[in-house]
Amino acid sequence: MTTARPSGFAGTPVTGQEWTQRYGDAVMNTFGTPPRVLARGEGSSVWDVDGNRYLDLLGGIAVNALGHGHPAVVEAVTRQLTTLGHVSNLFISQPQVLLAERLLGLLGHDGRVFFANSGAEANEAAFKATRRTGRGRVVATEGSFHGRTMGALALTSKAAYREPFEPLPGGVSFVPYGDEVALAAAVDETVAAVIIEPIQGEAGVVDPPADYLRAARRITREHGTLLWLDEIQTGMGRTGDWFGHTASGVVPDLVTLAKGLGGGVPIGAMIGLGEAATLLGPGQHGTTFGGNPVSAAAALAVIDTIEGDGLLDHVRETGERLAAGLRSHPLVDHVSGRGLLRGVVLHRDVAAEVTSAAFDAGLLVNAPAPNRLRLAPPLVLTSDEADDAVATLRRLFDEVSG
Ligand SMILES: *Cc1c(COP(=O)(O)O)cnc(C)c1O
Repeated sequence: MTTARPSGFAGTPVTGQEWTQRYGDAVMNTFGTPPRVLARGEGSSVWDVDGNRYLDLLGGIAVNALGHGHPAVVEAVTRQLTTLGHVSNLFISQPQVLLAERLLGLLGHDGRVFFANSGAEANEAAFKATRRTGRGRVVATEGSFHGRTMGALALTSKAAYREPFEPLPGGVSFVPYGDEVALAAAVDETVAAVIIEPIQGEAGVVDPPADYLRAARRITREHGTLLWLDEIQTGMGRTGDWFGHTASGVVPDLVTLAKGLGGGVPIGAMIGLGEAATLLGPGQHGTTFGGNPVSAAAALAVIDTIEGDGLLDHVRETGERLAAGLRSHPLVDHVSGRGLLRGVVLHRDVAAEVTSAAFDAGLLVNAPAPNRLRLAPPLVLTSDEADDAVATLRRLFDEVSG
């Protein structure tokens, strides 16, 4: 769909093609060349500089929890920035305290929160905390993604991401994801922590067996090992619960959050529950921007809105509506994930083809694996928007099948 709207700034017509050329000449080539130049967003829609509208089923990779330009986030950030924007951690700010209390309340346990600015940084903080146990080993899972900084990368299994940057921090080993027997065999008294994503996001929304987190809790507890849940993608309402592990009933020792937490404003958090709350002490970790009042205010607005608008129920319903509409198509093997974090697993390796056809049809999705599409739309996606998305995807599935 095209809407008449001037592209570029101050009436200067600059096309997507020209911006793409300039991007290539000025921005470091770590992401390849992105396929579209986006100019603005509203709710679950974004528009490119050429005026084309897209239904955003990716939400900035599970980040824009309340969609684009949500008034609650805009108001909270504006008010905070005009009141007190940044102070560093040499001083206390009120939003940081309020947010820490709020997150502990959502987790339902005593603990302490360390604020960072991204997922990788939250994981770096937790990785450092594990080293303070006096044990030097961490067990991670195959297919895991925990970020791109050196420590987070050491926990990430993908060889293509790791190998060009070795040597990475040591002591990390990998076991097959979802395999309780392999996990039990890998954990002993030398292992400080086991890090697990409740659903593997970057691997393509891969679900573990239903009792995996409970098994991991039992195994880690037997050996005095920390259970560290990376909820960076699965947390903050994405699955229809506050956290990906909520339904399992387990109480982890470490939880890392980012992505949806700030509703689009960068923020990460590392939370230590129980005894893990005091693993890091004065002088042992730090960050200039972490927990700044503006990001904390955005996160508080996100939490208030999820709660106040009953979005957890909405996420469950809308997620089921999307999944039900897609899983009956013959090209679809199954739909993984929960709530509004979904993998559409195809019988054929056509996910890249579908993704690029979807862009042309005005729908943003991505292909984390050759046979998998990932859907992680704003939690505010309406049922009409979900139905539109299903209709478009089913038509594209027909086209690549035919
Ligand atoms: C995205 C992601 C990260 C890394 O977060 P960044 O903000 O990109 O550093 C870590 N873990 C999981 C599970 C993620 O999905």
